[in-house]
Amino acid sequence: MPLGPDTVGRKLLWSIALPGLVVALLGVGHFWREARVAVQDATQVESLALAEFVASTFMLPQPPGAAAHGAVTEVLHSDTRLFRSVEDVRVLTADGIIRWSRNPSEVGTKHREAARLTRPGPETARSADGVTEVVRPLGGPECGGCHTRGEVPGESVLQMRMLEPALHQQLTHVFGGALASMALFAILLALVIALSLHFNLTRPLRRLSAAMGRAEAGDLLVRADVRGTDEIARLGAAFNQMLARLTAMKAEEIDTHRDLELVKEKLALKDELEDRLRELSLLFDITRSLNDTLELDELLDGVTRLVVERLQIPEFSIMLLNPEGALEVRQAWPEHRGSEGLTFALGEGACGRAAQTHKAVYLPDVADPTSIFARRGLSADALSTGALLAVPMVHAGTLLGVVNFQRPHIASFSAGEIELLTAVADIAAAAVKNARLHAETVKLTMTDPLTGVPNRRHLFQRMELELARAQRFGTPLALLMVDVDHFKRLNDLAGHRVGDETLRRVCDILRTRVRKVDTLARYGGEEFVLLLPQTTKQDAMDVAEKLRRAVAEHLVLSQPGLPGGHVTVSVGVSHFPSDASTQEGLVDSADAALYCSKRTGRNRTTAFEMGMEIHPGRERGPHAPPAEAAATTPPGGVAKA
Ligand code: GH3
Ligand code: MG
Ligand code: MG
Repeated sequence: MPLGPDTVGRKLLWSIALPGLVVALLGVGHFWREARVAVQDATQVESLALAEFVASTFMLPQPPGAAAHGAVTEVLHSDTRLFRSVEDVRVLTADGIIRWSRNPSEVGTKHREAARLTRPGPETARSADGVTEVVRPLGGPECGGCHTRGEVPGESVLQMRMLEPALHQQLTHVFGGALASMALFAILLALVIALSLHFNLTRPLRRLSAAMGRAEAGDLLVRADVRGTDEIARLGAAFNQMLARLTAMKAEEIDTHRDLELVKEKLALKDELEDRLRELSLLFDITRSLNDTLELDELLDGVTRLVVERLQIPEFSIMLLNPEGALEVRQAWPEHRGSEGLTFALGEGACGRAAQTHKAVYLPDVADPTSIFARRGLSADALSTGALLAVPMVHAGTLLGVVNFQRPHIASFSAGEIELLTAVADIAAAAVKNARLHAETVKLTMTDPLTGVPNRRHLFQRMELELARAQRFGTPLALLMVDVDHFKRLNDLAGHRVGDETLRRVCDILRTRVRKVDTLARYGGEEFVLLLPQTTKQDAMDVAEKLRRAVAEHLVLSQPGLPGGHVTVSVGVSHFPSDASTQEGLVDSADAALYCSKRTGRNRTTAFEMGMEIHPGRERGPHAPPAEAAATTPPGGVAKA
């Protein structure tokens, strides 16, 4: 549609064509009114002249025998163009009686407007409703010759009414035509204006508007159609220029955005790298810290401290695989909540599943009924809520235990954290393995392989500790030296294998008859030492005697050549602080007492006394007793001093 609704063209069309039409109609109306007035004036003048002419015909001489004013009647009834438009001609007396009329039938009647018409006054002419009326007084010379009897000249009135003259009709025709022409002109003008507006304004504006719409929708490569040099073309060109700038700005924006994305990516990478670095540094610290000690308990303490402090894990526990093949809680944080010492079978709960599958088990919500703690019925404190991550400690394919990390919030471990904590568990596994290897090595170096009791090295470490404790707290400490009697002969008679077995049995008898706080060690060959902390000398003698008797009673060999088959031991007892205050002194004193037992018949218990003879095989130490002093038990008893 060339001029659709609500277009500039339509608005302009209305704003041009409507006022034009109104002005044209007003002009036509004005000229129509002016022409009518002119026609009325002319008609009135014509009517007055005609009335004058009619009045003058009354003065025409009357031919004898003719009817009164026959000439007038004749003239008026003639078909001349002059009288064609005359409607009425009548003469009224002063009292309004129609005295003469073109229509003879009304003669003698009273005119209905007699009062207005007979009002004295000069000649008048007026027009109304397409009729012009002339009222002229009569009675002058025109009546004087005939109407003299009692009739006052000038008291009669001539009324003449004329219909609209031809000029007026012509004028109406002309104006009707003019009006039609005007309407046609207005229509043609509107059409021409509409077409002109369409081609010069609406269509270019619509194209420009379409281009703007596409640009607004994001198509910055669209360009307005620029034809000619008019305002719309200039507007299009300006719009194109603006679009070109916008395109350039958009391109810049895209570049900037890309740069920004690049920077963001770099920043994210940097953050990630920093996170990784932090994790690596943490792992490094953990590794270094865990490598600081080879003691398992210290190590477990260290792991717990690091996890709680550095990894912000508020709840934590370490379970180690015990000799029975169950997971045992060795460390737990917070402490003393009742979980330490608990054991879990493989496959039991999250930790058991982690141990069984050698894979981390993550429970985002420990309220999950499969949670181990939920099923163990722990106290409300221990039964935490939140997320639980159980990571197996596996070293070289061997399961060592499980570490459990817990947070009070549900699903609070991220994938990255799970990875990090798995690495921590791996490090802890390696550290635990090292600690265990170390412990085994230490045990090997401290243990006598034949009997399984601590060896001489361990004995001296222990003695140093016990002596220091005794000195520090002022408590007594006794040392028993036990030697198998005639062991060489036993070896010779029964063989070294029996000798070894005998040593083991002696060891068992001694170990099972002392307290847990006492230390039994193999001093060398067939000699054993017992350290008895917080024991008086008398008590030590009683223990020694008890042991001697137990061996003599229980260790019976069915070997030929052995007297009675009984194996006996001799015991020497020394005491801190009464006999000596150093390790060497205590050993030497016990040895001297033992020597005394040997010398006095064996199978005896002897308490050291000052002046006792030192064993000839030993160097004389600071506490070496004089050769004559001795206190021994008789064979099978405790020696008296
Ligand atoms: P005494 O009653 O005076 O103590 O005499 P003895 O024979 O027990 O003492 P001696 O020192 O003469 O001999 C100790 C023997 O113990 C010598 C050695 O062959 C033997 N012996 C030392 N260690 C072992 C061992 O581990 N196994 C065996 N079967 N014999 C050992
Ligand atoms: Mg010996
Ligand atoms: Mg011996």
